[in-house]
Amino acid sequence: MKLVWFRNDLRTVDNHALYHACSLGEGVIAVAAISPEQWLQQDEAKCRVQFWLANLQQLSKDLEKLNIPLKVIFTDSNEEIPEKLFALAKEHAVTGLFFNKEYAEYELLRDQRVEQLFGRNSINCSSYDCDLVMPAGTILNQQGEPYRVFTPFSRRWRAEFIRINPQPLPAPAPQLEHSIPADPIPYQINYANCLGADWNNTLWPAGADHAHQRLQTFVTTKLSEYPNERDFPALEATSSLSPYLSMGVLSVRQCLAALKTYSQDESWFDNQWVTELIWREFYRHLLVLYPEMNRWQPFKPEVEQRIIWHQDNALFNAWCEGNTGFPLVDAGMRQLLETGWMHNRLRMVTASFLTKLLRQDWRLGARFFMQHLIDGDFASNLGGWQWSASVGADAAPYFRIFNPLRQSERFDPDNIFIKQWILSGSISPVIDYASARKLSIDEYNRS
Ligand SMILES: Cc1cc2nc3c(=O)[nH]c(=O)nc-3n(C[C@H](O)[C@H](O)[C@H](O)COP(=O)(O)OP(=O)(O)OC[C@H]3O[C@@H](n4cnc5c(N)ncnc54)[C@H](O)[C@@H]3O)c2cc1C
Repeated sequence: MKLVWFRNDLRTVDNHALYHACSLGEGVIAVAAISPEQWLQQDEAKCRVQFWLANLQQLSKDLEKLNIPLKVIFTDSNEEIPEKLFALAKEHAVTGLFFNKEYAEYELLRDQRVEQLFGRNSINCSSYDCDLVMPAGTILNQQGEPYRVFTPFSRRWRAEFIRINPQPLPAPAPQLEHSIPADPIPYQINYANCLGADWNNTLWPAGADHAHQRLQTFVTTKLSEYPNERDFPALEATSSLSPYLSMGVLSVRQCLAALKTYSQDESWFDNQWVTELIWREFYRHLLVLYPEMNRWQPFKPEVEQRIIWHQDNALFNAWCEGNTGFPLVDAGMRQLLETGWMHNRLRMVTASFLTKLLRQDWRLGARFFMQHLIDGDFASNLGGWQWSASVGADAAPYFRIFNPLRQSERFDPDNIFIKQWILSGSISPVIDYASARKLSIDEYNRS
């Protein structure tokens, strides 16, 4: 019997660990860990936890069709996972554990502890680079070093993709019948302390079928205009697939395969949307290759050294609540608070506003985002926040400060998005833009 451990890879198609475990034909059981205390410690948003559980339930149904029962273990923290997994493995005479890699250091350490315990008991562990199309360490420059900026990384990534042509794996063949019952997926667990909105199942229906429908709609109806429209939050021109991608209900390989299927010619590969998917890969590579980033260290410490963060709870709270008096910033924050998701342009605008104009530490904003986002993803969030604070992997030699008013004129010219989220009258701005900008630039230019 083989055991497949599901984490943020909640799908049966293009799931390398599941596929390889099933291919041995010895029977498979699946397991997932329910760890509310751990989720809280890692700033998981309430809507994210609820969405994850709903997707787990869908996965259990999909696995049932393959004669694979999904078992559940309950743990207070990651520390308990090795023993509890091992107890389950012993109970079912498991001879091999299969899982897909997660790349944050915290998860890597958790998995190492599991591998050690299983190894001591002569149970093989097999892990797969399923979440990444190109495993970390395979996209290197001519000197064999990691890329520190995105554009050459993406060029090399594309060249490797053409060379290797990675394809999604199919769902595994059904396993032999068995008598092991699946466990019910519990909803009444204590995640009440997690922050943010409740999961909205109309905006984000759970399950791989919904994710695929959304992918198909996007590539058939929105992809061609994506490069022109993706920055306009009122247009709903992006895929809004991030919640599904972040918990592996859908894979990047599946996205690329769909793109290819529905495209008339080879131009699909140059589409900006592919570039965005490569950003996702880039930030995962950085986490592995620059491990100090996992410990909230900036990619560019030499820049952060120049900046003094100003701890001001009133300003930070105004930002959190969408009450800064800058309409585009407030609209973005209210979208986040109410739906658990925010448009990419607004993530950049709100993050720039907090770090550059309110001069609050990017770590505060990054945690707040994680605590509220349904697509909260450690690598992409960290990367996005460091980029916004100019301490991350960014080719720009200058200190970019978004002007929130100018951003509204460009990307929400008729105030459609702003009016959707700001219903009542205007609030006095919490800062004067011109002087805040000057202070920030002076600080950055300090030697
Ligand atoms: C400060 C900040 C924080 C962010 N935090 C997260 C996060 O926690 N989780 C997350 O998935 N994305 C994060 N992003 C990236 C991006 O904003 C979202 O992925 C995107 O808005 C999701 O919407 P979509 O699915 O419609 O994207 P689309 O435009 O349709 O893009 C397709 C997919 O590509 C990936 N992607 C797109 N842009 C980026 C990017 N800049 N970096 C990494 N991956 C990208 C996502 O998986 C996305 O679903 C953050 C960006 C910033 C600036």
